[in-house]
Amino acid sequence: MSRMLFAASVALMTTTIFLPAQAQQRPPIETTKVEGTDNVYIFRNGNHQSIFIVTKNGVIATDPVAYGKPTGGQAYVDAIKKVTDKPIKYVVYSHHHNDHIAGGKALKDAGAKFVAHKRATERLKLLNDPNIVIPDESVSNRGRTIKLGGTSLELKYVGLNHSDSTLVMRLPKEKIIFVVDLLPVGRMPGRGMIDLYPLEAEDSIKKILAMDWERLIPGHPDAGGRLGTKKDAEQQLAILQDASAAMKKPGQDGKCWDTAEKEFKLEKYATLPGYQASLEFIGRRYCGLWGRGT
Ligand SMILES: [Zn+2]
Repeated sequence: MSRMLFAASVALMTTTIFLPAQAQQRPPIETTKVEGTDNVYIFRNGNHQSIFIVTKNGVIATDPVAYGKPTGGQAYVDAIKKVTDKPIKYVVYSHHHNDHIAGGKALKDAGAKFVAHKRATERLKLLNDPNIVIPDESVSNRGRTIKLGGTSLELKYVGLNHSDSTLVMRLPKEKIIFVVDLLPVGRMPGRGMIDLYPLEAEDSIKKILAMDWERLIPGHPDAGGRLGTKKDAEQQLAILQDASAAMKKPGQDGKCWDTAEKEFKLEKYATLPGYQASLEFIGRRYCGLWGRGT
């Protein structure tokens, strides 16, 4: 989620105010061990989260999740140090968006090697943001497996989707995947639609569904922080397919942008969290596809 519209930020503030009491009382930063695993942790900072895996030879961390949080990277290092005294060997970026990858300096200073898809590295070099560590190693479309201290973490590129640089991370032994922004859990996709590749994203989700996994850790603590299942991934695929189908005719009939976007609805999903706020993003993206060919 890289850009923001004013109307949507107002909508987000409104929903934040009315969050359930439980969510409001959450600490701003939290580390949780993933149930049923020996060594997989979720590090959450505000509304963003990433995973880290502790092995006997060191730690594999992922997104620093410290956008707009100058001490967030150090908080991540501190959270890891509370769990283990092993060194942080790797930081893997899920994709190139700042809200997930900003703030890696403290992890770099701790000695981590930064890994990302090659398109992420290319883009980050162009933007040269002082808050973002440029990856040391780029992963090609063929992917890569990091092996450390008896743990394997597969980094899989499944094509264009939420970004052009998304790596799906899979822990084969634990049957867990970490997928950021492409597969929200139990809620409507929102701002993440802005630079979505709509048709290719459907293919990506089908490829992910074909992988061997049981639990999905998203990049945001959706649905009260529960982990996702294949059913959740199927639901996201259905939302994209239904949205695409709903906008195809108006788009091809020349009703994009304004008319088609105003009329756009996906009532089947009206009870999902984020429904109302997400319509403008979903409508805009599919108007772009079917009305402009973009
Ligand atoms: Zn993103």
